[in-house]
Amino acid sequence: MAIIAPSLLAADFRFLSEELEKIKKADYLHFDVIDGLFAPNITFGIPVIESLNKGEHLPYDVHLMIENPQNFIDRFIDLGAEIIHVHYEGNNHINSSINRIKEKGAKASVVINPGTPVSFLEEVLSIVDMVLVMTVNPGYTGQKFIGQSAEKISKLHFLREENGYNFKIAVDGGVNKNNADTLVKMGADFLIMGAAVFRSEDPESVISYIKGLKR
Ligand code: ZN
Repeated sequence: MAIIAPSLLAADFRFLSEELEKIKKADYLHFDVIDGLFAPNITFGIPVIESLNKGEHLPYDVHLMIENPQNFIDRFIDLGAEIIHVHYEGNNHINSSINRIKEKGAKASVVINPGTPVSFLEEVLSIVDMVLVMTVNPGYTGQKFIGQSAEKISKLHFLREENGYNFKIAVDGGVNKNNADTLVKMGADFLIMGAAVFRSEDPESVISYIKGLKR
């Protein structure tokens, strides 16, 4: 069964509680934290999670698209993040970031941008809990899906089977109801979806459709 994490970045922030109500049957709430340096947008961060913590909420997964992500790992886990996604790119200490996330009791996910090959992850595949394949360039919601990047899902699935690794495969960027089944068949377990959920006429049916997908 596929796991679905709607990305808050695609929500209409004027009606945040109504937006969150629409996705309450999802598995995770995905936070795209962007600092304007790592990727060309500035989104939201710690104060938003702090205020959401006051209400009922889904488990969080936090995607750090920021410079020096290692400086913020502890803060987000202390706020309750169950999964932290850190990029391979621009992180000189990916191994120590992964280890820190795990020491703090969260799941460690390593992310690769469309221009980064799977082969760069060789040294960390045995220690990560998840690999996140970006199928758009980081920054904005609603971008067009890059099909070529999706092929990395098959490569990762092959490496996982071949070596007996346990990581889950996540995909983020341009995922929708039309391509989700193919992605799951290729090996994806965890689908991050923005506009395709929040801007759908029936978010609940999108969520139940995704949760029903099988490899
Ligand atoms: Zn994301």
